[in-house]
Amino acid sequence: MPTPLDVVVIGGGQAGLAAGYHLRRLGLDFVVLDAASVPGGAWRHTWDSLHLFSPAAYSSLPGRLMPPQPGETYPDATHVVAYLTDYEQRYDLPVHRPVRVTGVHRHGECLRVETDSGTWRARAVVSATGTWSRPFVPAIPGRAEFHGRQMHTVEYENPTAFAGQNVIVVGGGNSGAQIAADLAYDTDLTWVTPREPRYLADDIDGRTLFDHATARRRALDAGRTDTGGVASLGDIVAVPPVREARNAGLLKAQPMFDRITATGVAWADGTTAEADAIIWCTGFRPALSHLAPLGLRGPRGHIPTVGTRAVGEPRLHLLGYGDWTGPASATLIGVGRPAREATRQIADLLR
Ligand code: FAD
Repeated sequence: MPTPLDVVVIGGGQAGLAAGYHLRRLGLDFVVLDAASVPGGAWRHTWDSLHLFSPAAYSSLPGRLMPPQPGETYPDATHVVAYLTDYEQRYDLPVHRPVRVTGVHRHGECLRVETDSGTWRARAVVSATGTWSRPFVPAIPGRAEFHGRQMHTVEYENPTAFAGQNVIVVGGGNSGAQIAADLAYDTDLTWVTPREPRYLADDIDGRTLFDHATARRRALDAGRTDTGGVASLGDIVAVPPVREARNAGLLKAQPMFDRITATGVAWADGTTAEADAIIWCTGFRPALSHLAPLGLRGPRGHIPTVGTRAVGEPRLHLLGYGDWTGPASATLIGVGRPAREATRQIADLLR
């Protein structure tokens, strides 16, 4: 068997690339294994009208500013894909595609990474597989009886297929608000949120969220009182399309329904709404099944970590999944710092 690599990075989205950038700088020997056949990670699969909630310069990975998109303050997903494609070429990152990792196993001094196209051995592993491949839909009574169409955020593209239909959008986060705004003009929309929608102030965008996350991290690092996560500011960034639909009175949220019928949804007070389609904007779970052989899973499907390092396996780092793997680590600008920390720790471990 060939000599083990220093590091295998699993996932070639923004988090995997940020790790690759720092591994390259540290002079470590590594590969990035990505299940997708093309660069861009989850950004290749978003709905057509999606724009970032921060300007380009505030959506940059380490080392290279995202250039502005001509004519757009907030770049769209195609611009992010172009940026990520350029990023991995610019830094000559060794990304292997399409390679899906099926299992990571302990193997003496190394970790053995099994894939659908061969086996790698490495002294450390960074898992950066994101959440997009694990859409979450809550268990609501009657869901299987519904005769209409159901889809999750990940399948939604644009309003065309829903024109003139009764559509129920479920979810009070950014995806729910943006997709509801997208559908508000051409469909008979019912927007359902578990609690009253909490908009951030209109002049707040991702820059403020990042500053807030940074201030929190500094406070925690310095042993000061927790200033609260970005969720304390609100749930919905009032990006221009959301603001316009809301100000036009088109985004009136209903409370969560209690059950689903063959033809729609019903609330406990007897109110009903007919639906041709239900779109679930109800979030994601981390894609961690490839780590199951390590037996590290803790509460809520997460793997317990200190920073990015797995508590039960110091050779494994988890990157980009959410605040539990670093404040704002599931954003373009936020993943750089935990990527640097993770790779430094790996370099120390391998020394
Ligand atoms: P991904 O982009 O999902 O990449 C993971 C990669 O791993 C994929 O290429 C996948 O193919 C691969 N993979 C998965 N499993 C395996 C496996 N077993 N083996 C090998 N490869 C595997 N962030 C911002 O900064 N600004 C925004 O405005 C913003 N808007 C958002 C809007 C929406 C609707 C959503 C959902 C997210 C938004 N985010 C935004 C958050 C964030 O930037 C993304 O979620 C981001 O795509 C996460 O990057 P990642 O690299 O962790 O995961």
